[in-house]
Amino acid sequence: MPVNKEACLQLKNELGLKHITLVAVSKTKPVEDIQALYDLGQRDFGENYVQELAEKARVLPNDIRWHFIGHLQTNKVKVIVPFVQLIHGVDSLKLLKEISKEAVKAGRVVQCLLQVHIAQEETKFGLNENELETVLDASHELPGIEICGLMGMASFSNDVTLVRGEFRQLKQIAERLQKRPGTPGAPWILSMGMSGDYQLAIEEGSTMVRIGSLLFGERDKK
Ligand SMILES: *Cc1c(COP(=O)(O)O)cnc(C)c1O
Repeated sequence: MPVNKEACLQLKNELGLKHITLVAVSKTKPVEDIQALYDLGQRDFGENYVQELAEKARVLPNDIRWHFIGHLQTNKVKVIVPFVQLIHGVDSLKLLKEISKEAVKAGRVVQCLLQVHIAQEETKFGLNENELETVLDASHELPGIEICGLMGMASFSNDVTLVRGEFRQLKQIAERLQKRPGTPGAPWILSMGMSGDYQLAIEEGSTMVRIGSLLFGERDKK
């Protein structure tokens, strides 16, 4: 399936009016498709695999803002830290410490989102509320990183009430955490919503959506 330029322009328009960031999720898609959306003005792209991201970043324009949205292993952190714009899926203090260490080496401050477990499904990664508090409080002592908000994935379900409830829960957790002493006052990023549920996510307060198949077509199963 070819890349859907029409959908990209429409989404950029719709989201731009609401000041919501569109992250175009390009995992498994060729660089030509990414270039096609870049040529329409899209600059934020999301990838799930470290090696794939590094290879694409090498050949594509260097003003692309690369978002890492996959599950990041500590031993791969150093590959992306020198250039990544935002790491969405921080789900342990161990991982955050590794990002901090590599960021200091690279002379950068790397922006991170903590991943929250909101879905019913057992398999989705993420922190619970206690763990979030622990990691957030510990983050104040770590150089080279900045916690800019939260990321979550709702259940893969047609149950609108369920999905809406999970997004609402994420928003409420963000509001509670932001009141903790030492948390910077800047508005937090709420990275929630994908092709199938982004409208619900926006209604519930999303500030950043991660959209793949709507822009690039369905992915082949890996
Ligand atoms: C693949 C992926 C997306 C995009 O999913 P679509 O349903 O294709 O829009 C968003 N977020 C994460 C974390 C992903 O892994």
